[in-house]
This record gives sequence, C-alpha cells and structure tokens, in this order.
Amino acid sequence: MKLWNHYHTPRTVDEALSLLDRYAGEARIVAGGTDLLVDARAEGHPPHHALIDITSIPELRNIREADGFIYIGAGVTHTQIVKSAAIASGATCLVESCGVVGGPQVRNVATLGGNVAHALPAGDGTTSLVALEAEAEVFHEGQRKWLHVTELFLGPGQSVLQTGRDLLLGFRFRPCAAREATAFKRIMRPQGVALPIMGCAVWVGLDEARAVFEAARISIAPIGPKPGRAAEVEAALVGKPANGDTIEAAIQLAQQVLHPRTSKYRATADYRHEMIAVLLRRTLTLAVERAQTGTAVPEGVGV
Ligand SMILES: Cc1cc2nc3c(=O)[nH]c(=O)nc-3n(C[C@H](O)[C@H](O)[C@H](O)COP(=O)(O)OP(=O)(O)OC[C@H]3O[C@@H](n4cnc5c(N)ncnc54)[C@H](O)[C@@H]3O)c2cc1C
Repeated sequence: MKLWNHYHTPRTVDEALSLLDRYAGEARIVAGGTDLLVDARAEGHPPHHALIDITSIPELRNIREADGFIYIGAGVTHTQIVKSAAIASGATCLVESCGVVGGPQVRNVATLGGNVAHALPAGDGTTSLVALEAEAEVFHEGQRKWLHVTELFLGPGQSVLQTGRDLLLGFRFRPCAAREATAFKRIMRPQGVALPIMGCAVWVGLDEARAVFEAARISIAPIGPKPGRAAEVEAALVGKPANGDTIEAAIQLAQQVLHPRTSKYRATADYRHEMIAVLLRRTLTLAVERAQTGTAVPEGVGV
C-alpha cells in the first residue's frame, strides 16, 4: 500500500520550513509515524502528497538544560526521555508517562512532539507536560513563538498547528527544585494500545518544613475534549498539611468538580469517576513522599 508520493528528510529547521512553504499546505510533517502512518494504513488513506520527516534535524532531537529550563526537541523519542537522567530527577512524571507509551518498538521511534501534535487529550506525554506547566515552541502563522502547551489544543485531534503549514519545534519547563516533585500514573486496559482509560500527573511544592502544600498542579485526562488542569483541586491543597487527610479531601473535591465522559472504547464515566480517586491518591502520595525525601526514582517504566 502506497502511503506517500514524495518523502523529504530535511537537515535543518529552515529546510523543513521551506519545504512546508513549497508544498503550500499539501505536505504533512512526520516524526515516528506511529500515529500518522498507522492511521493512514488502517483507514486506507490515499497516499499523502508529500511527507516531511523531521527526525534528521539535530536541533529537534536534543534534550538540553539551559537558563533554568529543560528543553526537549519535538523529535525526541520516548526512549530518549526515559533514558535522560536530568528528566528522571527534574521531571519524574514525564519519564513515567513516556515510559508506558506502547512497547519498546513504539517508544524507540514515537516522539513527544508527535504525541502533542496529534492533539488527543489523553496522550500520556501530554498529561505530564500539562502538570509541568510546559511551554511549546512553534512555527505558527509565519513566526517562531512560545505558547503554553495547553494553548495548542482546540479539541480531540484538533490542534492550533495548521497541517502542512506549522511546525512544532520543542518544549521547555522548569525542573523540580528542592521540596518539589512530580508523579504520573495511568489506568490502562490490559490489552489496551494507544490511549489510557485515564492518566494523572501531579506536581507539588512543599514549604520549608516539607509539611505543607505551598503549590500544586494536577493534570487528569481525559476529562474534557482538551487537556487541562484541575484548578479548584489545586487551590484546595494550598496551605494544607501534606498528609493523607488533605489528599482524601482533595479527592472528594475532585470527584465533585471533574466530570469524565463515557468512551465506548475505553470506559464508562462511572468507572472513570472512581479512577479519579485511585489515581489522585497514588500520585499525590508519591509526589509528596518524593518532595519530602528529595529522592525520585521513576516507577512503572516499561522495558
Ligand atoms: C501500538 C501503539 C501503541 C501506542 N501506545 C500509546 C500510549 O500508550 N500512549 C500514548 O499517549 N500514545 C500511544 N500511541 C500513540 C503514538 O505512539 C504517540 O502519540 C506518539 O507520541 C506519536 O508520535 P510520532 O512521532 O509517532 O507521531 P507521528 O505519527 O509522526 O505524527 C503524529 C501527528 O503529529 C504531527 N506531527 C508530528 N511531529 C510534528 C511536529 N514536530 N510539528 C508539527 N506536527 C507534527 C504529524 O503530522 C501527525 O499529524 C501508540 C501508538 C501505537 C501504534
């Protein structure tokens, strides 16, 4: 089955942008191809006119630390993220989410940029980027700029990035400092592929005594058509003791204010409602323990 007519492997961002320009909206960006090409094959899609493969652009394949941020190129694979010591310690939730995507073959080629550009609200990498308050660097409307990662999402499978015109370049976020930590867990069907029943990433910051929540960020997905934060639950944690009672109260509030939907492929709304409690209890407890001990070893990463 023919999947494309023309295939390009630019070596620089400028080359990729001039190819996008040349094809005037008729080309598609491809990275690992684990969404784009798998979907094209499954749906018997007519061949794409042109594919622009961004995985030979060194700038998009790098993880680096600078100016107090961790930068991850859009073409960085899930395996690269799992192997990064800087991300394991500074953004443990991202290693935990990228480490459960598909199997090793998928993680070796699938990219974080592809996970976000595909724009499904429960993409595992996306869920953690939201809790990390990550920004995305994009070439959009003819300009290079930074947007909050949540601003890229318009609805399920709908991105602000215009197909054939825009390019996602990478991400940046601040790694955890002392007394800060993250955690990610998900619920997946045993034979499930592609997307979880529900995923949850949290970031917590504790006070100097490591006994009180100073700040919290909670990303549970899917709740709505776009990824987002549980702002009311986050606010309810601030100033409260970092203990089991506070976490249970946060869970109760989350179950009142978050309304997941039934998906015929994954789970009922009732089941997801119950899973909010399971996931929040596990992730908040783990993140608090990590922030208190100053030790964060990623859990649940596949081999
Ligand atoms: C067997 C299997 C299991 C999977 N399991 C999971 C899972 O557990 N969790 C999960 O979240 N996902 C899962 N996925 C989905 C997929 O692997 C991820 O979403 C992956 O991160 C997509 O990355 P990619 O590089 O392969 O994207 P591609 O397929 O190359 O691209 C996806 C989309 O993004 C666009 N795109 C890619 N890069 C850019 C860029 N830099 N700029 C602009 N647009 C871009 C493409 O045009 C396309 O529309 C699974 C897929 C398979 C096949």
